[in-house]
Amino acid sequence: EHRLSTRVRNIRPSATMSVDGKTKALLAQGQPVINMSVGEPDFDTPTAAAFAGIRAITNGNTRYTPATGTLALRQAIARKLMTENGLQYTPEQIIISSGAKHTLYNIFVSICEEGDEVIFPAPYWVSYPEQVALAGAKSVIVSCDASTQYKMTAAQLEAAITPKTKAVLLNTPCNPTGSVYHEDELAALGEVLRKHDVFIVLDEIYERLVYDVEQVSLARVCPDLAQNVLVVNGFSKAFAMTGWRLGYVAAPPDVAKALSGLQSHTTGSPSTISQAAGLTALDSFDPTVVQTFQHRRDTLVAGLQALSGVTCVCPEGAFYAFPDISGVIGQSLHGRTIASANDYCELLLEHALVASVPGDAFGAPGHVRFSYAVSDEQIAEAISRMKQFHDQLT
Ligand code: PLP
Repeated sequence: EHRLSTRVRNIRPSATMSVDGKTKALLAQGQPVINMSVGEPDFDTPTAAAFAGIRAITNGNTRYTPATGTLALRQAIARKLMTENGLQYTPEQIIISSGAKHTLYNIFVSICEEGDEVIFPAPYWVSYPEQVALAGAKSVIVSCDASTQYKMTAAQLEAAITPKTKAVLLNTPCNPTGSVYHEDELAALGEVLRKHDVFIVLDEIYERLVYDVEQVSLARVCPDLAQNVLVVNGFSKAFAMTGWRLGYVAAPPDVAKALSGLQSHTTGSPSTISQAAGLTALDSFDPTVVQTFQHRRDTLVAGLQALSGVTCVCPEGAFYAFPDISGVIGQSLHGRTIASANDYCELLLEHALVASVPGDAFGAPGHVRFSYAVSDEQIAEAISRMKQFHDQLT
């Protein structure tokens, strides 16, 4: 007999969080750990946005807002989607939530029936399988590898679709691989999706962080699919607002209505203060952030590619590198054998004081995720420590 629901008992603890715990423990002991396990920008929230939040508090703008968010912010998001993404939505189709993670959860709960299938490619963001399971649905995971830069092809998608498919979930730019789907690839996926009546959930939270390539939404490439497309985005990554908890979706009217109802009985409304800050943030994007990340990416990827036993596709977006370290599986350090990416990350943390996340959590054994949301100096130091670490492997 169990005291807790099957639903929550089946949740796997987030691997990113557990590495974080070990890292913080080492840092607390005064160890100079370079933390490349984090999933958040190392910049500050734009000052203007932060002050808009403060002003909301001091002006008494601290009451509940409508469940789906303030009209002002929904209008601003609709404008943003039009001018920056070429997408036409009314403010009623925009639902603001307490972070994109919350938005995604609400979506799965709102569209999935028990036993429905949700297709997404691996490597995937850690929360997708858990959220899909919490909604009673089944994850159908399409394995992708370096040969397609970890992107799902149209043929793979076609083969995965069944009569039970309820939704296809696409994250571009992708966490953990940094892969960005190009326009022709989105068009090819659209060709397949056009033949099936399934929802298409687009997680575009890293949309601003692309290097050398154009970010374009599948919603823009295939406007005829608008009735099935949900565009998810948020403030965490572009505006370094992870702690403000603010995300949103642009959805077809019936889905928006369902999300609104669900939210009205669960969280109520997203934080009023954060919404005020978000409204200002939309006009405060700092484009130099993109150059900063691109430079860091170049340094990190070159360093990783030079390590023995490591190969690394050059990521085109987000702030992660996702090298394949399977070349060192079976090697050992001081008598300890590396049997998995887990072992590798543990040893790297202990001996090189570099924190990273094993790929297993993202459905990609033999890989490791390094976040480059750290300074140039830290990246250089991490590479030098990793080189020493690899030189000691036998
Ligand atoms: N989607 C992806 C792919 C992410 O990496 C994250 C954050 O790590 C989120 C969604 C959720 O972001 P938030 O809930 O902070 O808006």
